[in-house]
Amino acid sequence: MTTAHSAPRAASAACLLFAALSAGIRAETVTAEPDAFLDYIEATGTQYIDTGVNAETGLKARIDFAPGAGTGGAALPPPAVAARVALVGVDGLGARWIPWDVMPNLARLRDEGLYVVARCGYPTLSAPNWTSIFTGVPIELHGTRNNSGAPVVEPWGGENPASGACVFSEIRKQEPDAFTASAFAWKGVGWCHGTNAVDAARHFGGTAGEYAGRDASAVDWALSHLPRNPRLALYYQGQVDMAGHRFGWGSPEYTNACRNVDANIGRIVEAYRTAGLWDDTVLLLVADHGGHDKTHGDATIECFEIPFLVSGGASRRLRLREPVMAMDVAPTILSLLGLDVPDAMRGRPAALPR
Ligand SMILES: [Zn+2]
Repeated sequence: MTTAHSAPRAASAACLLFAALSAGIRAETVTAEPDAFLDYIEATGTQYIDTGVNAETGLKARIDFAPGAGTGGAALPPPAVAARVALVGVDGLGARWIPWDVMPNLARLRDEGLYVVARCGYPTLSAPNWTSIFTGVPIELHGTRNNSGAPVVEPWGGENPASGACVFSEIRKQEPDAFTASAFAWKGVGWCHGTNAVDAARHFGGTAGEYAGRDASAVDWALSHLPRNPRLALYYQGQVDMAGHRFGWGSPEYTNACRNVDANIGRIVEAYRTAGLWDDTVLLLVADHGGHDKTHGDATIECFEIPFLVSGGASRRLRLREPVMAMDVAPTILSLLGLDVPDAMRGRPAALPR
């Protein structure tokens, strides 16, 4: 009936032992520094009851009576920071071009959370960088160098997204019962994470000029899965990139597309709030590349700089470590969910507990 849990800051020699026993109730022993233990309770949403004061330490012993009740000495879950991650992927949203004044929802998330200008990989194209975002490896390893829908260079280890080596498949591997969703207006996103790796994945097709409607529909559809409590849901938005290609990065049409995306972001936040999920959710917003004039793909700072924003109720106790790259997204998500980051991922968790 004893389990030991190493919280992030529990490696100190000055560890304290929390122990509690009670008939019919799952009892736990947790070794941790006091603040790390309390962080653990808060991060996992675990409910504890006080059972008395340890005469030696003066600290209260607590018993876990909620999740896993009856499982006896089952191992504690890792110290997740977030119960779920909402990943908002905005194609072509260059950090230098974000019109914060017409994106009040995004600005609020930035002000309440953490924001840094990150960089994508080269070439600064969509599929290479979405693949890095989902797989956690640089373009040199996954080999997807253009938007053709297949690796141009043989993927390292033979692993490519279509075979399921991505953040979604890692969640499934480590938590077979977890539910994930992905909705996207550009079919290339499906190549990049492999639709088989996602429990509910859907491409919203149509002609190029309909991207605003497709983005809105994608959000509606993905949000319809909220009752299934997705551990990870991707809300991909394609209209900003499309407006950049047709009218130019920073053009009035580009700005208007950003305004539309901001409205969709507002609906995502509101839906999580209404469902009572916001407080233990991390919303992570990222782009695959920026752009300039009516193009992207080259090695210019306007293309390289992308937003990396971490917000949501569960982000309050996080800090960011820089620099951040596109390939850090998958490791960041896994670590926020308390899951292992596989060695094959070369990115690193960018958002860490404070
Ligand atoms: Zn793109």
